[in-house]
Amino acid sequence: MILRLLLPTVIVVLTCSRAFAWGQEGHRTIAALALEHLQKSNPAAAAKVKEILGNESVEDASIWPDDVRPNRIPSRSGRFANTDEGKAFNTAHPDNPAWHFVDLPLGSKAYGDKRFTKENDVVQTLVKCIDVLEGRSEFMSKHDALRFLLHMGGDVHQPLHAACGFFKFDAEGRATLISDPDEAAANMDGADSGGNKLLLGSESGATNKSPEEADKRLPLHRYWDEHVVAMNAETEAELAVKLRDRVAAFKPTNTGEVRTWPAQWATDSIGVSREIYAELKYGKRFPRTGNYWTIYLNFQKGTKEKFTDMAAVQLVKATRNLAETLGAIQWK
Ligand SMILES: [Zn+2]
Repeated sequence: MILRLLLPTVIVVLTCSRAFAWGQEGHRTIAALALEHLQKSNPAAAAKVKEILGNESVEDASIWPDDVRPNRIPSRSGRFANTDEGKAFNTAHPDNPAWHFVDLPLGSKAYGDKRFTKENDVVQTLVKCIDVLEGRSEFMSKHDALRFLLHMGGDVHQPLHAACGFFKFDAEGRATLISDPDEAAANMDGADSGGNKLLLGSESGATNKSPEEADKRLPLHRYWDEHVVAMNAETEAELAVKLRDRVAAFKPTNTGEVRTWPAQWATDSIGVSREIYAELKYGKRFPRTGNYWTIYLNFQKGTKEKFTDMAAVQLVKATRNLAETLGAIQWK
């Protein structure tokens, strides 16, 4: 009975996890290493970042966008959601929880298909942040624009914050993955919310399990938000040590003007997502309460190790691309 009462809470937690790409440790490390790199490559830009942030550290600034998010359950809101500053921000931008991701089909060649992009998705919000920092827009304060740039520069490199599986089901509920954008557009109800509707574990292991048992299983999205970071390092300090030299050695591939880079990062993340989904075996659809459904998925041999390495590559890309962006912005 207690579990049944708790169930709606669990669902809210699972489905709200999309904003927390890379967990706090991942975001804080990306921001710290990006500033460290910028200090060597463009000290004037690094000074500008520090001037805008004032007393706030670059690490704290990078997780403010997650901490300001409200929740239907107030005790689960971010720690800044109920501050005067947080309330004013959420009143001005009630849609900000949607800024952290975009759901592109795995077969998309590039970011830009208007059937799936949104004016307030992660790519277009990153462009708005750049516009604010270059003095072309007053969409939000420069301080908030920098916080969101630092944060979402990480988010868009979490592959499941850019791409999404779409599924169709046969009469027995067996799932087939859809990658083709046209087919996905005709199956919008089959979107898996960036892997939030895919639960890890074998279908046979799920037989005769109650919905409560199912809800305790880890969604693929959260596995990629948190577990892959923890599998790389246990602390922020260890993660920084692991990534630092790789950030310095990484060769950025950004082309054209800085406002077009976030779309290039999302396009790259679609390809990485294709690799993630290709590693998995899909089971049957498992109905839950409300509007949610799940599919059980199985890892293949070596998948965990492969995901750990892929995550490190994405964290390096995110860090270096963020440093390049901060160095390329025409600060006003
Ligand atoms: Zn986020």
